[in-house]
Amino acid sequence: MSFTKGDTKVTLNFRPGMPAIAWGRADSPPRCLCAVCHGPLPEVALRMWRSNGESAALCDYCVEKWIEHRGRARIEKGRSE
Ligand SMILES: [Zn+2]
Repeated sequence: MSFTKGDTKVTLNFRPGMPAIAWGRADSPPRCLCAVCHGPLPEVALRMWRSNGESAALCDYCVEKWIEHRGRARIEKGRSE
């Protein structure tokens, strides 16, 4: 799946076992909870849109735990490889 983060197109791969994302409908207000664990979102959250207009935001924990990403934007924090 490809998503746009700012001006940068990022390809995200979801890790196996990831719970279903609670996508928000295009005509509903943006959620302030994580679409995966329903925990609080950080001030700057990863927000994803689908081509049908649905959107979802993920907290740092779920981004770290469930998403592998490629491209210029590095959203992983504090992980040494
Ligand atoms: Zn979460």
